[in-house]
Order: sequence, then C-alpha cells, then structure tokens
Amino acid sequence: MGIDGTTKIVGIFGAPVAHTASPAMHNAAFAALGLNWLYLPFHVEPSHLRAALDGIRCLGLAGVNLTVPHKVLALAMLDDVDDEVRRIGAVNTVSIADGRLRGHNTDAAGFSTAIQEEFGLSLRGTRVLILGAGGAARAIAVRCAGEGAAAIWIANRTPANAESIVRAVGDRAHVASLRSLPEADLVVNATSVGLHEGDSLGLPAKFFSARHCVFDTIYRPAETELLRTARQAGARVANGTGMLLHQGARAFEIWTGEKAPLSVMRDALQAAIEGNA
Ligand code: NAP
Repeated sequence: MGIDGTTKIVGIFGAPVAHTASPAMHNAAFAALGLNWLYLPFHVEPSHLRAALDGIRCLGLAGVNLTVPHKVLALAMLDDVDDEVRRIGAVNTVSIADGRLRGHNTDAAGFSTAIQEEFGLSLRGTRVLILGAGGAARAIAVRCAGEGAAAIWIANRTPANAESIVRAVGDRAHVASLRSLPEADLVVNATSVGLHEGDSLGLPAKFFSARHCVFDTIYRPAETELLRTARQAGARVANGTGMLLHQGARAFEIWTGEKAPLSVMRDALQAAIEGNA
C-alpha cells in the first residue's frame, strides 16, 4: 500500500526506541488486511512527552504505543483512562476519539492471553509468584487479581515497591522475600534481569519441578537463565514473545476496529526479534 494523503499513522513513543519490534508486527498486519495505515517509531525524550502527546491531536495520528520511560509519566497527560489503567498506574496504548486522548493498558490482557496460549492455564484459581515490582509487574498483578488468581506474591529487590503493588491489588496479594519463595503454580519474571548476558536472578534449580509453569516477560534473549534453569528442572517455560504479540494485537484492534491477523503478526514479530526484518 503506497503512502498518500489518506494514510493513517500510528506509532510508538520511547527512549530508546531503536530496537523496537512493534513496527514490523503492525505494518505486516496493515499490509495483510490491505489497510492504508503506517506504524512508525518516534524517539521521544521524557521532557518532550507532553508535546508529543499533543502532537497526536495536532498531526492527526490515530494513536500510539508508549514504552520505557513513558508508561507512568503519560497517565497524567491524557484526557481519559480506563479503570484497569488507573489501578495499574501505567498506560501503554493511546487512542483518540473526538479529539480526546484515551489511555489503555494492553500489556495486562496480553499477559493473560499469552499464559492461556502457552500453558493452557487460566489465571482463575492459580497461585502466582511475580518477580519484580515495576510497571510490567504491576500490570500483571492487577490482571491476576481481576481474573481471580488464588494468591499473588510479589518478590522484589526493593520491598517497598512490592508493598506498593500489594496495596493497589488488595487482599489476595502478599509481599514475598527473594530468599524464601512461596509455593506457586505460575512463576513470572517481570524484572529486567535476564536482558543482558550473565544476568542472574539466582533462583536455584531445586525451586522448580514439572508442576511449575515459568513465564519470562523478556523475549530477547529467547531463553534467559531463569527459563533455562526451570526447563532443565522439568518446568514448562515460555518467554515474553506471546505477551508482546497479544498486547500489540489488542492495540491494533483498539485503533483500527478490525480483528488482528495474529499469525501474520506473530511471524513478523518473530523475524524482527531474530533480526531478520
Ligand atoms: P521497570 O518498571 O523499570 O521495573 C524493573 C524491575 O526490575 C523492578 O522491579 C526492579 O527492581 C527490577 N530490577 C532491575 N534490575 C534489577 C536487578 N539487578 N536485580 C533485581 N531486580 C532488578 O521495568 P518494566 O517496564 O516493569 O519492565 C520489566 C521487564 O518486563 C523488562 O524486562 C521488559 O522488557 C519486560 N516487559 C515485557 C513486555 C512484553 O510484552 N513481553 C511488556 C512490558 C515489559 P527495583 O524495584 O528494586 O528497582
């Protein structure tokens, strides 16, 4: 589809944004459905975020994704946010209607769809241990509570950040210590530990068994030390590609009103992550 005066533009605001795989995923989806839409990366520094969000209105963009470091900052700069966004305290997708900017959090739904798809596991009745207490952990914890998880433990380097999530989530959530982890069905790494070669959360193999499902929100590298340790101990494991895919699919549907072409998006995403796009 050629770019012309009617092309609708969406994109992602982040700093850095150079390594994002989202343009490949969304542009493949637009092409597959014959939509005259284009998804672009925008490097936006935090000090320019308000102006950039105003730019959505001024330039007639159809919406944007937000990534590090904008997900929390943007909350106070939007006209409307849905209830889940308010509870999570972070927004990763912005849409526009009648000139009003609306914030959504598709990371939360993306996580729950990925868990269902990867493990055939519903969050209802599941005991979940979340490692980390940043934006991703918060979205995951709020979603787990919303879907009726039996228990939610948050273990984090800085306990005060875990306590803040527990307060937001309510009585099914508890702070856990990284030194004595509770028994869970699903273990989720929502820290950034694992992004770099040699990163280690230090969880011993004896903690894992065939009863566990272990999900790492990290997707590059494809197998973190956590996933390798858990897999070798017999646990079922999955990386964060599915979460990235499904948060993107939700955003696509919010913006276009069309059903997202999942298999096209999955292939494009995988190729981009592996560096072939
Ligand atoms: P964030 O808000 O910056 O939070 C980072 C978390 O990692 C905090 O809990 C932090 O602990 C912890 N942490 C950082 N360095 C650590 C270390 N050396 N040892 C122990 N803990 C450490 O980041 P975020 O936005 O939540 O992202 C977290 C991860 O989720 C990233 O790897 C990101 O790539 C991934 N993610 C994936 C998807 C997806 O679609 N697959 C979507 C969103 C995020 P403190 O509180 O102590 O600082």
